[in-house]
Amino acid sequence: MIELVGFDGDDTLWHSQDYYDRAQAEFEAILGQYVDLANANLHDALLATERGNIALFGYGAKGMTLSMIESAIQVTEGRISAQDIHRIVKIGKDVLSHPVELLPGIRQAVEEVARDFRIVLITKGDLFHQEHKVARCGLADVFHRIEIVSEKDPAAYARLFREFDVQPSNFAMVGNSLRSDIAPVVALGGWGVFMPYHSTWAHETETDFAVNERVIEVTGAEGIPAAIATMHATSTID
Ligand SMILES: [Mg+2]
Repeated sequence: MIELVGFDGDDTLWHSQDYYDRAQAEFEAILGQYVDLANANLHDALLATERGNIALFGYGAKGMTLSMIESAIQVTEGRISAQDIHRIVKIGKDVLSHPVELLPGIRQAVEEVARDFRIVLITKGDLFHQEHKVARCGLADVFHRIEIVSEKDPAAYARLFREFDVQPSNFAMVGNSLRSDIAPVVALGGWGVFMPYHSTWAHETETDFAVNERVIEVTGAEGIPAAIATMHATSTID
C-alpha cells in the first residue's frame, strides 16, 4: 500500500519552465546583436555551459545567469558590452522574482491526496528561490514536510525513505520529470505519477527510462488522486 506521496514543485505544483524559456529567448535576442543566431547555435552552447557548471553552481536561476554570462563572453569572443551583461543579470533576477502561479487543479488534487496519505514536497534548485516559491504557493501548510534537495537521484530519495521510515514500495512520487521525479524512485522500488508539462528543460529530458507498470501517466492534476488510489490498491494486493 501507499503510505507517503511526494510532489515535485517546478512545473508540477507551479509554473516554472515558461519563465526559463522566456529568459532563453531574451538572452538570444541580446546575443543576436553580436552573432548570427542562425549559425551560433546558442541553445546548445548555453546548455553545454550550464551542464558543465551544475556541479559547481547547482540547479536554478542563479546558475543559469552565471552560465549565460559565461556563454555570452565565449560566443561573442569577449565583445559583449557591460550594458548587455547587466541586461543578462536582469534576466536572471526576473526569473528569480517571477510570480508563483499554481497549475490548474493542483490545489484540489494535493488536498485530496493529503486526506488519505502523508505528503511531502520534494523540490530541487536554488535554496533561496525554492523557499520563496514554497512560501508563496499557498500550499505549504498542506505538506507534512518540505524537502529542498540539490539533486534528485536515488541516493537523495533513499535518504528520504530512511528519514520518513517508509519502504520504497510504499512511496509514490508525482512529477513532470522522468529523469528527476520518476526514474530514481522506480529504480528503488517505488511508484511514479508522471504528469508531463508542455515544456521541459533539455537536461531533464535526458533519460533512458521507459515508463513501466510502476508508473501512471496523467494529463492533468485532476488525474493524480485516482492514480495514487490505483497504486494503493495494486500494491496492497502485492
Ligand atoms: Mg519539475
